[in-house]
Formats: sequence, structure tokens, C-alpha cells
Amino acid sequence: MKNEKILVVGGAGYIGSHMVKDLLDTDYGVITLDDLSTGHRDLVPGGEFIEGGLGDRVLLDNLFSTHPISAVMHFAAFSLVGESVENPLKYYRNNMAATAELLDSMIRHNVKRFIFSSTAAVYGEPVEIPITEDHPCDPTNPYGASKIAVERMLKDCDSAYGLKYISLRYFNASGADESGNIGERHHNETHLIPLILEVATGRRENIKIFGTNYPTPDGTCIRDYIHVSDLTRAHLLALETLMSGGDSSVYNLGNNRGYSVREVIELARKVTGKPIPAIEADKRPGDPAVLIASSDKIKEALGWKPKYEDLETIIKTAWVWHWKEANI
Ligand code: UDP
Repeated sequence: MKNEKILVVGGAGYIGSHMVKDLLDTDYGVITLDDLSTGHRDLVPGGEFIEGGLGDRVLLDNLFSTHPISAVMHFAAFSLVGESVENPLKYYRNNMAATAELLDSMIRHNVKRFIFSSTAAVYGEPVEIPITEDHPCDPTNPYGASKIAVERMLKDCDSAYGLKYISLRYFNASGADESGNIGERHHNETHLIPLILEVATGRRENIKIFGTNYPTPDGTCIRDYIHVSDLTRAHLLALETLMSGGDSSVYNLGNNRGYSVREVIELARKVTGKPIPAIEADKRPGDPAVLIASSDKIKEALGWKPKYEDLETIIKTAWVWHWKEANI
């Protein structure tokens, strides 16, 4: 498959870098395009690297006319809900408008396979749990709105230009590659598991529990955590599907099982053997009480099967990475 080249946009980020590794391990040729605004050059495990933005028309045209690209995987999005509320145009500009430039260049160069990182945030406040793909999409923040706008764009590009796409709606991506060589590194970390592990490594004093009177058994929010390598394996299946002439589709990716914030902290204490002090804090605006995915559709259609269904194992893989990062 070495002669099949895949363009990974955002391959220097958390999920993108794991994707590059999986593609290389599967013998695809890989080109990473990343502007390094939130990604890290040293996290890209190999292949060709181009520094630049996905909205740069000249760069994209040059890239597509000089490289035979079989498919594009797009991970380069801003993904902080709170920031998207404060600065929505940053999100619409990068996540939506720049993606339109990318698609435009692809279509003009006859590259018509696209795999998109979407999110559970497209659904908004759930009306039914577990969430299936036909749940109404009514995002409660600009981040989710920018992602559902791209999904709509993809549908329209399929009708108009025959673009074939698979959009993968991730629930809570977590964990790290088993090698311990790549993992989650954000400068302004906001996600629960990495923050908890920063407390365990001594980089942070405590973990704040955002809200303790949600309508859940222990009062804290429940989320569905999925290992990053299970996500990337789903992308490989999606890629194979499009390569063999499969049709456009949208799939959820989660584990069909929820853990509360308190349960996550407790499991992290068990995995790390550290006390991890927790303090109760106000709710974070826009957090739904419960988000749990149904991933039956992708299991049935593409034969996807998660390897890391149990959160303790997921946290263990993240812990290896965070421990290493803290001690380098
Ligand atoms: N959370 C928390 N303390 C933190 C960070 C997150 O209690 O310091 C909670 C957050 O309110 C949510 C859950 O942990 O209920 C997962 O949040 P995260 O930001 O990791 O992912 P999200 O579900 O927002 O995509």
C-alpha cells in the first residue's frame, strides 16, 4: 500500500499523531500537514511533514498538484468548548471556513475521499441515551456548530461533486499509544483525564470536580471514554471502506458505557497509586449531565471492535505517557 498516500491534516496533534502511526504501521504513505498552532512536531511519528494551514489555498493547490493523494483525513480543529463560546469566529474561521478551502482544493484536484473528525458535541443536550446517529443535532456551543456545519458541507459536496466521506463523531477520546512514545499534550489542558494525571505527577495540586448536583447517581457528569487507538482503528476501517468504493456515512465512536467524574478520579487513584486530591467546584457552563454513545452502527457496518473497553486500561496507557512526559 506504500503507493497509496494519505494526507493527514492535523497529524501533529493528539489524535492525528496516533493516526499517522497507525497508517505507517499499516504501510500507507503519509503526508502530515499541520500549522503547529496546537500540535507538536516531535509527536509526528514519521512520513513527510509540511508546516502550514489548511486554509492556505496556494499551499494546498501546490500540495495536491505535486503529490498523488488517495484520501484526506482531517483532524486539524480547535476543540475547546469554552473557548468556542468566548471566541466563536476563531472556530468558524478555522473549523469551518478553512475546511471549505481544503475541500475546494481537493475537489479541484479530483481527490474525493475524506475522513472527518466530528464530535458528540454535534448532538447538544441529549434527549435519549445512548445517543445514536439519528439523534437530533442541536449543538449548544460554536464548537459543535462548526462541526455539524462541516458535516452538512460534506453531504452537499457528495451530492454536487461525488465526494465520498465518512464522518466519525467521537465521544471522549483518551489514553495513549501502548508504545508510550506519543500521547496527549496540550498547553492549556482542559480535559479531565490528563488533568487528573497532572495532579498524579505533581504538576498540579488538585482536580476540580465541575458540578456535584447533576441528576446522576453520584451527582457528577457521566461521559463515555474511548481509547485513541480504537479511534484510529476506526479511521483505518473507514479508509478501507472508501478505498474500495464504499459510500458516505456518519458513525458514532464511543464505548457504550459511562463513567462519572468521581469514578474516573477513583480509577486514576487506583492506577497511579497517588492520592489525587479533588475539590468540588461550580458547574462548567454547557456540560450535559450524561453523554453515552451507541456505536452499534459502526460495529455492524464496518466490523469495528474496540480493544480498550475498560477505563482502567485506558487510564493505564495515559499514565505511562504522562509519567514519561513529566520525567523527561
Ligand atoms: N471535568 C471536571 N474537572 C476538570 C475537567 C473536566 O470535572 O478539571 C468534567 C467536565 O465537566 C465533564 C467531564 O469532566 O463532565 C469530561 O470533561 P472533558 O473536558 O474531559 O471532556 P468533554 O466531555 O467536555 O468533551
